[in-house]
Amino acid sequence: MKNGLAGLRAKIENALDTVIDPVSGVGLLAAERISGFAVTEEGRVRFTLEAPSDAVARYQQVRDAAEAAVRAQKGVIAVTAVLTAHDAPAPGVTRVTKGATPPPGPQTAPRRAEGLPGVAAIIAVASAKGGVGKSTVAVNLACAFTALGKSTGLLDADVYGPSAPTLLGLHDRKPDQGRDSKLKPLEAFGLKTMSIGYLVDIDAPMIWRGAMATSAVRQMLDDVAWAPLDILVLDMPPGTGDVQLTIAQRVPLAGAVIVSTPQELALADVRRGVAMFERTHIPILGVIENMAWFETEGVRHHLFGEGGARRTAETFGAPFLGELPLDPALRESGDRGAPLVAAAPDHPMSHRFLAMARKVLDAMAAAGKPAPTIRFA
Ligand code: ADP
Repeated sequence: MKNGLAGLRAKIENALDTVIDPVSGVGLLAAERISGFAVTEEGRVRFTLEAPSDAVARYQQVRDAAEAAVRAQKGVIAVTAVLTAHDAPAPGVTRVTKGATPPPGPQTAPRRAEGLPGVAAIIAVASAKGGVGKSTVAVNLACAFTALGKSTGLLDADVYGPSAPTLLGLHDRKPDQGRDSKLKPLEAFGLKTMSIGYLVDIDAPMIWRGAMATSAVRQMLDDVAWAPLDILVLDMPPGTGDVQLTIAQRVPLAGAVIVSTPQELALADVRRGVAMFERTHIPILGVIENMAWFETEGVRHHLFGEGGARRTAETFGAPFLGELPLDPALRESGDRGAPLVAAAPDHPMSHRFLAMARKVLDAMAAAGKPAPTIRFA
């Protein structure tokens, strides 16, 4: 059945690429005009065509052609194509329903994304560069929220280097499609989780251009059955560039946690991270200093300097959530696919994560975004 669905998807993608994008002169997929692409097993297809905001009228024909090309594929029973105006360079998107009048002129105000029904709060775990332990922290923080009684999800938004399959030991599992055509998140260690790594072969090289990365993240939010959740933790791609900024603008974030190492260079990184979220009016819930020291025979060695992230957090008036020393147990648990907080809740590192999770909840409450526990009667 899966192969059938994958085959159908591939046929439809080919069909979409036979329709030429009038601006770039290449197929619609190659031109990155298609987002929100979903196919159900019954053959219902849905996608969004992103037109430049000054050429929406011209793209109505393109949308019709794309719809016809997809409908012509054997196995397709229904097609819903939505035309949207895509602003350049600001990533605001205006939904245009079929046959509707195109919106007047380009929109410049960044559009705040709508919330996810049934998900009380989405928080981002971000870092200005890779390798600082962002994903390890995101996964263990998520497990700590679970331990504190919050129903929690983990969305691995790092499409460039998905790590959730490894960190949660989910290499061999694939999400199923639910009845409502939404993907069911995988469940592990009490978390609901989704990652591009569960959907495609992560060993195969993937080239994501900015718009594709953002639209993949948006799809993993919109087309996955997350609800009900108290907290959805978003493991952001590392960095503070356009992709991260666009995600920050398009995802309804209640706040962000920034992970950094202590060294002086990292201070500039934290500053960039804080500035990015401030630009998008997202509260900084706190800064975590990872790899703060390595302890041997009772002596702490500050391999990457001392206290940098704490000082930077203080400078910016952001809460400092705490330090995490270098601890081989954390790396081993990650490699084993069993997060330390879930596998060894009494480990001193797990205690540190729990304390930080409590501080995040406090910061969320202080930011005016309480994290209520959703109860369904
Ligand atoms: P990022 O998401 O920032 O790229 P990762 O979470 O993938 O970073 O971590 C990079 C590597 O560092 C992993 O092998 C991870 O196990 C290890 N690591 C992260 N934090 C610690 C720590 N506090 N102690 C020991 N190893 C750590």
